[in-house]
Amino acid sequence: MPEGKIIKALSGFYYVENNGEIFQCRARGNFRKKKITPLVGDIVKFDAENNTDGYILALKGRHNELVRPPIANVEQAILVFSAMEPKFSTHLLNRFLVHIEANDIEPIICVSKIDLLKSEERSRIDQYISDYQQLGYTVLQTSIFIEDLIEEVRPWLNEKTSVFAGQSGVGKSSLLNALKPELNLETKKISTHLGRGKHTTRHVELIPIGTGLVADTPGFSSLDFTNIEVETLSDSFPEMRELASLCKFRGCTHSSEPQCAVKQSVEKGEITDYRYKDYLSFLEEIKQQIRRY
Ligand code: GDP
Ligand code: ZN
Repeated sequence: MPEGKIIKALSGFYYVENNGEIFQCRARGNFRKKKITPLVGDIVKFDAENNTDGYILALKGRHNELVRPPIANVEQAILVFSAMEPKFSTHLLNRFLVHIEANDIEPIICVSKIDLLKSEERSRIDQYISDYQQLGYTVLQTSIFIEDLIEEVRPWLNEKTSVFAGQSGVGKSSLLNALKPELNLETKKISTHLGRGKHTTRHVELIPIGTGLVADTPGFSSLDFTNIEVETLSDSFPEMRELASLCKFRGCTHSSEPQCAVKQSVEKGEITDYRYKDYLSFLEEIKQQIRRY
């Protein structure tokens, strides 16, 4: 029985890709009764009726599942953060990184709109780039006006299913258009805000770019910490992950406990203040969420 990946869902049909061929499939009755809705990104077993049509018979287990855009099995997130307009936000980047690590998605940080940087801001951004590289993250710099930089993004998309993510106005759609002009995604002026409805009613599609697949709808609009625990937050901080076993107390939250290896590293300047500060503020947010439930 052939296996394929759902690359598009529209009006009750699922478009399943198998060795470069697309089959327009419906979900089989007994499968539908289980009330599992197939998602774009799902790997399915299907029955081909002919060269173009088929039926989905079974879904393979999901590695992860995003809500917005609704996609399963995302492997990589391209985190687009503009150097300017809007200003580079390490706080938001750290928040995204926690979510992405918690969903077992590989992050690629893309510092966009590099062309807007003037020399005095350049050194500030360079410092951040070096900080995140030292943490082990891949950091790319992009500008839709510099073709060589666009080309440097391309190889990272190969062989993977990726989603672009980041705050509104950072240039996600522009970058996707630069990589694949046929997409012709709507881009916007920073000052105008598109209603959310416009995004949610659109269907999602995985678009081939090189040998990879990219969601045509940027994702991760909800960034609360519902799935993350106080004890495991530091797992999403690469600079803390290894240290946790050296703390005096098991389950140390690296906040007010004595003889904490993380806090000692912060004091020595081995962990940056701004990352640690964000860690503490996320920790507080998780605690408040727990209190609320
Ligand atoms: P999105 O909301 O993240 O999809 O952002 P858009 O792609 O709609 O871009 C927001 C604004 O930033 C638009 O006015 C774009 O023309 C502009 N923009 C996008 N990329 C770049 C870039 O590399 N350099 C400059 N200077 N402007 C850019
Ligand atoms: Zn500790």
